Amino acid sequence: MSKISVPHIDHLNRILPEEPLLMMGAGPVPIPAAVAQANGIVINHLGETMSRIIDQVKRMGSYIFQTNSPWLMGVAGPGSAAMEMAVTNLVWPGTRVLCVCNGFFSQRLAEMARRAGGHVEVLSVPEGEGVDPSELTALLDHWQPEVLTIVQGETSNTTHNKDLAEVSRLAGERGCQVIVDAVCTLSTMPLPMDEWGIDAVITGGQKGLSSIPGVSLVAFSERAWERLTARPVPMPHWTLDATLATNFWHRASYHYTAPVSGLLALHEAMRLVCEETIERRYERHRGSSEALQAGITALGLSLYVPKAARLNSVVGIQLPDGLSAKTVCDHISARYKVEIAGSFGPPIVRIGQMGEQCRVHHLFRTLHALGSTFNDLGHPLDVPQGMAQLENQLQQRYPE
Ligand SMILES: *Cc1c(COP(=O)(O)O)cnc(C)c1O
Repeated sequence: MSKISVPHIDHLNRILPEEPLLMMGAGPVPIPAAVAQANGIVINHLGETMSRIIDQVKRMGSYIFQTNSPWLMGVAGPGSAAMEMAVTNLVWPGTRVLCVCNGFFSQRLAEMARRAGGHVEVLSVPEGEGVDPSELTALLDHWQPEVLTIVQGETSNTTHNKDLAEVSRLAGERGCQVIVDAVCTLSTMPLPMDEWGIDAVITGGQKGLSSIPGVSLVAFSERAWERLTARPVPMPHWTLDATLATNFWHRASYHYTAPVSGLLALHEAMRLVCEETIERRYERHRGSSEALQAGITALGLSLYVPKAARLNSVVGIQLPDGLSAKTVCDHISARYKVEIAGSFGPPIVRIGQMGEQCRVHHLFRTLHALGSTFNDLGHPLDVPQGMAQLENQLQQRYPE
């Protein structure tokens, strides 16, 4: 007899909702059928088939990241694993790091840099603003960092660092390498890595790319590669060692067993990006998000971040006094089968506009569910006005 008895376990069907919820939060996002199907396949992690798939993932990555650098690779793990891979390969004890912090995820980059032994200086940007390049210049000259970390879009409070190109240029001119977290933004808005002189770009699967969570990508510039291959002390994390990762990503051999199903899913997600083209994809995201924002405003709600620094990939909506994010999220999920997100701080709810979330039919269902939820909870909104505004905006953008 085993000492610990067999547990009573419910079948998944009894745990999952009968009808899948529409995933309109801050990720994971809905996945296309081709991605879901690929995710159900297991193949040999080495060998000819895998080699061809990896070769295509890298070629598609060059296009989506807009880089000619060969040092693009995947990592088994969340977006945070890719962040850690970029940070820990480029930062070692004593490295001077400047971290531009607009919120939760940019602070995570700073924490990773500290744990890697870096001397971290934080440039705290006021809530709802992007970083100011002139303020940054002063700090670059004063602190002389070797590495700078920044997010393109701060998902946590829906802020966008719109001056990223200039930030990269200013840092690059001073010999400082730039790590950009593009977990929520890659393929939703322009991020030409080579043209902007960025040294490491990070993304996850489950946001802009509309793949599954658990497989992420990181691209290093040639300059970053020179830095990390010349590091004076060994990488403390064997699994995240970028030079070891080249065994799998560049030599078709073994580093660790690759997350094969997730890579097949990612391949399909990236193939769909290529099929759409990045220009059309950026335009779809911009149009969809701006129409949704106009609809939300017409309902009678306020957006959290002013237009000048507002992120399109995730829309932050101010909550009226006395209404908690949890109440709103629970109600919209239970009653309308739409998932949206609360936040890790500000009094907002967030609606994602990443990948498959930017589809017209999802916009209508989500906006209706949002307005009706507020009505149900005793905070009356003008739902017909919101829906009409959404339709008007979409017609202006996509006339027949
Ligand atoms: C989601 C997100 C992350 C973290 O990704 P995980 O997959 O949850 O580790 C990091 N940065 C940004 C900007 C994000 O949106």
